[in-house]
Amino acid sequence: MPNTSKKTLISGVKPTGRPHIGNYFGAMKQFVDLQDSGKYDCRIFIADYHGLNLIQDAEEMRRLTLDLALDYIAIGLDPKKTSIFKQSDVPAHTELCWIFDTIVTMPYLMRAHAFKDAEAKDKEINVGTFNYPVLMAADILLYDADVVPVGQDQKQHIEYARDIALKFDNIFRSETFKLPTDLIMESVAVVPGTDGRKMSKSYGNTIPLFATREEITKAVMSIVTDSSGDVPVNVYNIHRLFRPESELRPLYEANKGKYANLKKALVEDIDAFIKPMRERRAELADDPKKVMRILKKGAKAANKAAAKKLEAVKKAIGVI
Ligand code: AMP
Repeated sequence: MPNTSKKTLISGVKPTGRPHIGNYFGAMKQFVDLQDSGKYDCRIFIADYHGLNLIQDAEEMRRLTLDLALDYIAIGLDPKKTSIFKQSDVPAHTELCWIFDTIVTMPYLMRAHAFKDAEAKDKEINVGTFNYPVLMAADILLYDADVVPVGQDQKQHIEYARDIALKFDNIFRSETFKLPTDLIMESVAVVPGTDGRKMSKSYGNTIPLFATREEITKAVMSIVTDSSGDVPVNVYNIHRLFRPESELRPLYEANKGKYANLKKALVEDIDAFIKPMRERRAELADDPKKVMRILKKGAKAANKAAAKKLEAVKKAIGVI
């Protein structure tokens, strides 16, 4: 039951493959911490319509969607406290997106980082990717979200949601939308990958969140070490996610120049951290029907809230 004294939190992840520890520390861990704080009404969704820009194979989409639902529950999202749902189960997202499309201009969307990056790479960009910030604005504004926990790369999209809300209310002389704020944990805003750049699937520099010990070892051994200093910066910057810096400093001091030892210690720490989640996930995977029921229940709650907001929007624009 939504509790009006609580703030509303919404966020989502695209079902485009295994999440990595950048997704986890940058965004997903915050979902769980904030859920457990008891201060928020939490809605966390599987952004399958955003994912459709990349995943265009039905079987793969089904598999990746179930995978992400398992990931969410395995990291500690509790369906009793958080409604977990699929974006495509709530048609109001795309309906509101269309309404916003009529007031958002092309030059405005052309300023989006994601679009500029794709353009710089000379990639042929589809309309869905170009329009991504508008669908994301709908995802957020539909629920009167106060906060959106995300990684740094999503900051601009939250600003877009605010701009679109203000523009809508200005054009239609209404007070329909609440302005959301991003919630970015500065210390993990950009989690580095094994090559020191931002951890990202597209760079091939990830450590998967539910990695097996072998996968962890392989990824850690591939971390690029810079031999110019005493501390291998790329190893250290990943290591500090798993251990307090007060413990890391003496460890790195005692192992100056001994990169293999430090990498071994990192493998141990990552594996100890991931193991319980990996095991919980494996247990859950045995009962996909249960997971589907959780998604249906989440969708029911989300549809209820979304329908109410969409009705207010439709009144504001004069279609009802
Ligand atoms: P996506 O894969 O775009 O659905 O990302 C899911 C969430 O993970 C978003 O909130 C991103 O901002 C966050 N994220 C992705 N990569 C990183 C990273 N390397 N460091 C911190 N956050 C990240």
